Amino acid sequence: MKLINKLSIVVSVYNEEAVLDKFYETILPILEGIDSDYELIFVNDGSRDASPAILDRLAMDSKKVKVIHFSRNYGHEAAMIAGIDYSSGDGIVCMDADLQHPVECIPQILDTFNQGYEVISMVRTANKSAGFVKNLTSGLFYKILNKISEVHFEENASDFFAITKKPAEVLKKHFRETSRFLRAYVQSIGFKKTTIEYEAHDRAAGESKYSIKGLFKFSVQAMLSYSDLPLKIASLCGTFAGIACVLLIIYSIYMKIRVGAPGGYTTTVVVICFMFTVLFFLLGIIGEYLAVILSEIRKRPIYLVRDAVNFEKDQEKENE
Ligand code: UDP
Ligand code: MG
Repeated sequence: MKLINKLSIVVSVYNEEAVLDKFYETILPILEGIDSDYELIFVNDGSRDASPAILDRLAMDSKKVKVIHFSRNYGHEAAMIAGIDYSSGDGIVCMDADLQHPVECIPQILDTFNQGYEVISMVRTANKSAGFVKNLTSGLFYKILNKISEVHFEENASDFFAITKKPAEVLKKHFRETSRFLRAYVQSIGFKKTTIEYEAHDRAAGESKYSIKGLFKFSVQAMLSYSDLPLKIASLCGTFAGIACVLLIIYSIYMKIRVGAPGGYTTTVVVICFMFTVLFFLLGIIGEYLAVILSEIRKRPIYLVRDAVNFEKDQEKENE
């Protein structure tokens, strides 16, 4: 059954001058070969190298190549969201520009869509280029996230995923938080889901744009938006502190009756110190959540588009 008449490929680009031409050369024959119309949307996430010029050139070459230039660097996730917002296909595939996500999977994705699946998570079987530490930490990250959150996240799921129009509408409408974790949203929205395995290639050229610091920030954000375990820890600590205090009080009363000693400074000091420790700990956690709430109520735009190439006029307006 043919359910997909048009496929949108969304590619985020940040300083990828070294790979863009190669990417285009590799993906073009595949897209020309599939049994549906397509559009190739590049989102230039504020690149400072020759990427914008290369993308504009590719857009001149074919009307099916569309380019969104961000006004500055907003990050990979914002780029993918923009691409989804501007897409007009019945199926959308989000992938990286560095050829780590094999473009050869596209026909298989299309087949899977045509079988009626609506959300396809692409699962890495191996990531040669990531290195031992990155593979280990990302494995650990998913283990922890799955333990503490209600939604199940596919381990090794990547930013390589494909969704049909319906889940895309849901993402557009309801997942506009500024602290986002797109691949988790994709897995949490339900719909008819499946996974496809792929082997991650080495980056074709250029360097990884993600730093350890960035990944850490990303993980903390994911945990905060998908779990309230930190809040539960706070209440657990409160409970234990409470029990400890009651025991201490009973103990000091008992000692006073039994030995007749005055209340004792030690007890007082211990209790006060303990309570303050717990109090500060709780404040810390509440602070984390407040930070998230604050960023949500600010309602800052997820991205601002400087320029959009090859889009229908009304579609451009719609997304403004
Ligand atoms: N990227 C982006 N904005 C950023 C950082 C990265 O759009 O701020 C893009 C980048 O061009 C690439 C994809 O996101 O297409 C994945 O980045 P990268 O390959 O550097 O990450 P890694 O594969 O090493 O995790
Ligand atoms: Mg990469």
